[in-house]
Amino acid sequence: MHHVTRVENPRWLNRLSRYSNPGRVVNVCFFVVLLFSTLLTWREVAVLEDAYISSQRNTLENVAHEFNNQLQINIDRLTFYRNGMQAALRTPLTFEGINRADAEFQRKRALHQWSISLDNRRTLPVHGVSDAFVDETTLLSRDNTLLGNELTATLEVGYLLRLSTTLKRTTQQMIYVSRAGFFIANNPLGSNDETVEQYYALVTSPWFTAHTEHNNPQRGIRWLSWMADMPKGEVRRVAVSLPVDYEHYWHGVLAIEFSLAQMKQLLTTAIQGEAEGEYRLYDRKMNLLASSLAPGTTPSPLSAPEKAQLAQAFEHDDRGGLRFTTRYVNWEKIRNFDGILLRIHNLDEGVRGDFGTISIALGLLWALFTSMLILSWVVIRRMVRNMSTLQESLQWQAWHDGLTRLYNRSSLFDLAGKAAKQSEAQGLSVSVIQLDLDYFKRINDRFGHQAGDRVLTHVAGTIGAQIRETDLAGRVGGEEFCIVLPGASREDACAMAERIRARIHSREILIGKSATLRISASFGVSSSDEKGMFDIEYLQSIADGRLYLAKQTGRNRVCCQDDDSQ
Ligand code: GH3
Ligand code: MG
Ligand code: MG
Repeated sequence: MHHVTRVENPRWLNRLSRYSNPGRVVNVCFFVVLLFSTLLTWREVAVLEDAYISSQRNTLENVAHEFNNQLQINIDRLTFYRNGMQAALRTPLTFEGINRADAEFQRKRALHQWSISLDNRRTLPVHGVSDAFVDETTLLSRDNTLLGNELTATLEVGYLLRLSTTLKRTTQQMIYVSRAGFFIANNPLGSNDETVEQYYALVTSPWFTAHTEHNNPQRGIRWLSWMADMPKGEVRRVAVSLPVDYEHYWHGVLAIEFSLAQMKQLLTTAIQGEAEGEYRLYDRKMNLLASSLAPGTTPSPLSAPEKAQLAQAFEHDDRGGLRFTTRYVNWEKIRNFDGILLRIHNLDEGVRGDFGTISIALGLLWALFTSMLILSWVVIRRMVRNMSTLQESLQWQAWHDGLTRLYNRSSLFDLAGKAAKQSEAQGLSVSVIQLDLDYFKRINDRFGHQAGDRVLTHVAGTIGAQIRETDLAGRVGGEEFCIVLPGASREDACAMAERIRARIHSREILIGKSATLRISASFGVSSSDEKGMFDIEYLQSIADGRLYLAKQTGRNRVCCQDDDSQ
């Protein structure tokens, strides 16, 4: 007797496969790997980006620091002159030349315009306007007790300015403008005939009016940028200025004026070696003052929304970074200046840099990994599907007879044994019908083997149609069939056998083109009712004996007991 042997899986695998088929497990595994690899790549890029941003910020910080130093030099110069003037207001020099200048001023002060110089090789001339001019506006005044001291202090500044211009060719315009109607400048402001116009322009310039006691109560440094009317048209200029006051009296303003080219020069000096990215200096109102781009190349302007976004950021922070569509902007407020420094990094610069290269490499790696993963997923999915169909078909073949599609001998006895045990446990009986076709050899001989096969298939179909769901039917020999009926009494089984017999015999089977054939079968029935024996092999041998009896007693009949007295 052959038993169907099944490979027992580990329990956990059984439990797992109860919830999911292998295909789904493969799907889940691949999805998890894809998810994690994507998360990992994304995190790597995020970490890289952070490093990139902080390195960008660092370089900007360095440049901002340098730029601050550049500005500080100018602030120091202003403070130095302011302190010098205050000292001179307190203790004026007393030598003859200076006294002569004072006398000259007294002589000239009523003139429409005038100038006084001590020695044109060592000092700069002071240019002035009339008493009448000064009296015209309340901002200006000659009524101060230290007027003489202020004039000599201005001449001293002239000496220092002259010295500094000779020592170092400064192009920046350095000016002292007095409220008492005179000024001194290291570079001539224009023709000497236009002193009045020049003085008027100076005292109405934004950096002068910025230092009224009302506008600048703290008396501190002011940076300003404004559009100035120049002979060639309107030009933006930048100035740093400081009021000169002594004992609560405001005498005038010291200022250094810069052209935008000079601001660019300052910026370029601060940038030094930092070649990457573009640096820009904006004033508080987001007017572009200088760009690090080579002269001649126009910096691409920030759009109005970009400016607004930046302006909003300045409100709250001293430094920060903003990403616009194709560029990354780092910004930092300048300590010594009323404005901000920007570092603009374009997307293509970023891509060309280390960060870009590594990111692209990471992205490509991810894409490669993902495509390999998807490819292997497709292959494995197909393999799993093939394997499970193969497994199913192998399993079916192992359990069934290919011709009749009923159970084969060994699987029938295996299943029947279990069913019998179950019936016994439930206190039910189990019955067995054994049947054999009559004169089958003749059919083969007369119509051929193929016709015989067709008959076998037909009989199997008839059996299958008659039995209940719980019954087990199998082909146990060439043209012998066995039916196991769990829970059926001998009478039930006999009735079933009789029905099947009648069915088989009632129909003509079409064989070949026109030939038909009527067949019959003999049946033997046994049941656990009789002796209380549930052993299937035993029951089958009893049924087989009764089948033999049915053959002996004329065929096409059902035998339900050993003697033929029924
Ligand atoms: P009986 O009424 O006494 O049973 O007569 P019988 O001719 O059926 O005798 P027996 O059972 O000894 O003959 C079985 C025959 O069944 C022998 C063989 O030629 C035929 N056979 C067995 N298996 C197959 C099969 O798979 N296909 C076909 N076509 N014939 C088969
Ligand atoms: Mg036979
Ligand atoms: Mg036989």
